[in-house]
Amino acid sequence: MKGSLNLGRIAGIRIEVHWTFILLLIWVVFLDIRRGGNTTSALLNIALILFLFVCVVLHELGHSLTARKFNISTKQITLLPIGGVASIEKMPENPKQELLVALAGPAVNVVLAFLLYLVVPIKTYLSLDPSNLENLLSAPSFQTLLFYLFVANVMLVVFNLIPAFPMDGGRVLRALLSFGMDRVKATDIAASIGQVFAVIFFVLGLLFNPFLVLIALFIFISAYGENKMVKQTSMIEGYHIENAMLTKITLLNPEDKIEEAIALTLAGTEKDFIVVDEERIVGILYQKDIISHVKYSSMRVKEIMKQKFKTISKKEELKKFFDLVNKEGQRFFPVIGREGALEGAIDMHNVSEFLLIRSQLLKS
Ligand SMILES: [Zn+2]
Repeated sequence: MKGSLNLGRIAGIRIEVHWTFILLLIWVVFLDIRRGGNTTSALLNIALILFLFVCVVLHELGHSLTARKFNISTKQITLLPIGGVASIEKMPENPKQELLVALAGPAVNVVLAFLLYLVVPIKTYLSLDPSNLENLLSAPSFQTLLFYLFVANVMLVVFNLIPAFPMDGGRVLRALLSFGMDRVKATDIAASIGQVFAVIFFVLGLLFNPFLVLIALFIFISAYGENKMVKQTSMIEGYHIENAMLTKITLLNPEDKIEEAIALTLAGTEKDFIVVDEERIVGILYQKDIISHVKYSSMRVKEIMKQKFKTISKKEELKKFFDLVNKEGQRFFPVIGREGALEGAIDMHNVSEFLLIRSQLLKS
């Protein structure tokens, strides 16, 4: 994610923290000062946030490492002020696997809460009457910090299990629904329920907590996006790359000048170009590289083309295209035939057109 600080890797997964996280720390210190706190209480509050985020990373690792059991990789885990996001390549489509991946995160917090329960005298805290408890909790101490951490882990379990798709509870709901109906319908139901919760969170957030407003927006937008994606994927079920690929494409030679690529960009609708040398694909010239080199139009294509690229076979399922887009972060790929010869290309624009045509055919 842009503007993130890399903290290193755990089990091969990059852990990063978004810069806005600093704002959270500043906010916590600000609240503490306003409450008349001192250096000790401020440090303990910062420590609480940092420990809390360790718990969140462990939660996300629970999801990621379970997904890995089903051969699904995770690029990174990003910490945001509203929580952690694991960039899991995709959710398993098998409902049993999705159920396990979704439950693994909250399960980590159950374990953490249990471990904290063993070291913190939770019962003593809870048996105090409210005013005594408040006095005890407002006095900064390490044990109070652990008590807060216990409460936070319990809340993480409860909050994440609210069936607000695509939060964990919503994924559990979709997986459970998928046992009895097809995945598209299950996603539709789970996403609608998720959006209802998002509206409730939004209103509660406006009244009580601005973070809830952010979470509500996140849930609303991602429920919509993921529902749409699942619908699209089902529309292309049974189709292959060759059904949607571009066959009329202009090829470039590594010795061509950038000005030729500029002319082609202006003359047609093609954006990215495959570079071929004696029938062999040697690179891809992406539109953004053409645009950024407009001033150097006499440079050669081979100087700015990308030599690292993935190709896709025309016999591959069309949904593999989306997997490739997610994995590579590119939207344009050469399509090869049986003997590895270039037969065309596929890009997002083209697949969108294919979806548009499919959706019209399904309507009638
Ligand atoms: Zn989770």
